[in-house]
Amino acid sequence: MVRSMNVKLLDLQAQYLPIRNEIRRAIDEVCDAQALILGPAVEKFERSLADYCETKHAIGVSSGTDALLCALMGIGIKPGDEVICPSFTFFATAGSIARLGAKPVFVDIEPQSFNIDPKLIEAKITNKTKAIMPVDLFGQMAKIDEINAIASKHKLKVIEDAAQAIGAKRNRKPACSQSFAGCLSFYPTKNLGAFGDAGAICTNDDHFAEVCRKLRVHGSGHTYHHEMIGGMFRLAAIQAAVLNVKLKYLNEWHDARRKNAALYDKLLAGSKVITPKIDEGNWSIYNQYVVRVQNRDKVKAVLLEKGISTAVYYPIPLHEQECFRYLGYKSGDFPETERACEEVLALPVYPELPREQVEYVAKELLAATK
Ligand SMILES: *Cc1c(COP(=O)(O)O)cnc(C)c1O
Repeated sequence: MVRSMNVKLLDLQAQYLPIRNEIRRAIDEVCDAQALILGPAVEKFERSLADYCETKHAIGVSSGTDALLCALMGIGIKPGDEVICPSFTFFATAGSIARLGAKPVFVDIEPQSFNIDPKLIEAKITNKTKAIMPVDLFGQMAKIDEINAIASKHKLKVIEDAAQAIGAKRNRKPACSQSFAGCLSFYPTKNLGAFGDAGAICTNDDHFAEVCRKLRVHGSGHTYHHEMIGGMFRLAAIQAAVLNVKLKYLNEWHDARRKNAALYDKLLAGSKVITPKIDEGNWSIYNQYVVRVQNRDKVKAVLLEKGISTAVYYPIPLHEQECFRYLGYKSGDFPETERACEEVLALPVYPELPREQVEYVAKELLAATK
């Protein structure tokens, strides 16, 4: 009999310990230099990040949410504008649109990839639509090629919410590199996590990059001269120093997650558990390994009794959130989104997760769903 194991959803200490000295040295350099906000550490990280994402520019900002907000400000989103996005995503996607007085216009997802369904986008375009904001959910890129084609036909900008997808690829090209701008989050649970809040905007557009650099410091190009109204979106140097160290290990961590995902795929094949589907041409970084099960809440509770932590991303669709009631949506408007909210369960998949634990989770999940 296999004894009960304690399986964490994420173990940040396991990631930190092997690189502890290197990280502490990098933080120490910032402490000694006392260049605490933006400055050399941030510039160095921005260059490495732009290389990694295969974009011309990377602009470090204070969080993934601020990356979205700053990017939308950078393309001039204003009250009354409409921005198309999925309803099945983290709150920040639509929250950033609404904070600018613009209207989030929701579109349903594809059941297989959990990403926005490009076939449903055109019907939602009006003369107020300014942008499309696809989300690369759980580490798999949205169908950016199809979305770009729609956007260019209607002269819209594509701001990619790649918060969960740094290094993910579609047709061999990384997240952020195929859209007008891509937004990244370095929240500690993301594949590349800072030691606090941090984010970035990646783009190939020189003018937009320049605008975002100003917007992140209250719209100021030169000290105390404000050309536009921006925000306080600066990246702290200590975060950049940590990210600079961690970026070197990111591909190894992606590979380890993918190995865990492949093992789950194999162990759960042919069962009632629906494993994640990766689109043809996509390379997922598995920020989350999300299965679908019936009686999800019960299955989650049974696993917890066996010592296994899981999570539900996301239990409530954005169109049913109280703060978006004014948009006038109702239950039933986005059937695939609503079904996903009832069925999804994220299993532990972090890079350092031991193989025996993957096997244990799969075994207990099969037992709980028999
Ligand atoms: C994490 C996340 C964000 C926000 O990033 P923060 O750094 O937490 O502000 C935005 N969108 C998606 C899809 C995310 O997963």
